[in-house]
Amino acid sequence: MENCIFCSIVDKKSPANIEFEDNNIIAFWSIEPKAPVHILIVPKKHIESVAKLEEIDAELIGQMVLVAKGLAEKKDIAGNGYKLIFNVGTHGGQAVNHIHLHLIGGAQLEEIV
Ligand code: 5GP
Ligand code: ZN
Repeated sequence: MENCIFCSIVDKKSPANIEFEDNNIIAFWSIEPKAPVHILIVPKKHIESVAKLEEIDAELIGQMVLVAKGLAEKKDIAGNGYKLIFNVGTHGGQAVNHIHLHLIGGAQLEEIV
């Protein structure tokens, strides 16, 4: 998708600090980390948000969660725990309209819910 920063990172046209990549998913550090560990798990397929998910994407979303779990172990935050967050739309605070899962941890995080 043109004019999408995450598609541009997927295509290696924009730089990112990449932690993981396979055929379907790329994961890289947030440019503005909100905690000691703040990694974005991003499908290579351009899907705008959770609100635009379809049945066919179910396996991909499962893969994203498993990648997040693996990265939490790799970054040594699994023991103390972490948050996995999908921001959706305006009230959800979504700024980048290419679906992504935030992996946030490495410190005690504020309770949202
Ligand atoms: P959202 O608010 O859409 O859920 O989260 C967007 C995330 O992407 C934020 O963590 C923000 O810092 C990050 N971000 C936005 N632009 C870039 C970029 O160009 N590179 C990287 N690595 N992260 C970005
Ligand atoms: Zn995109």
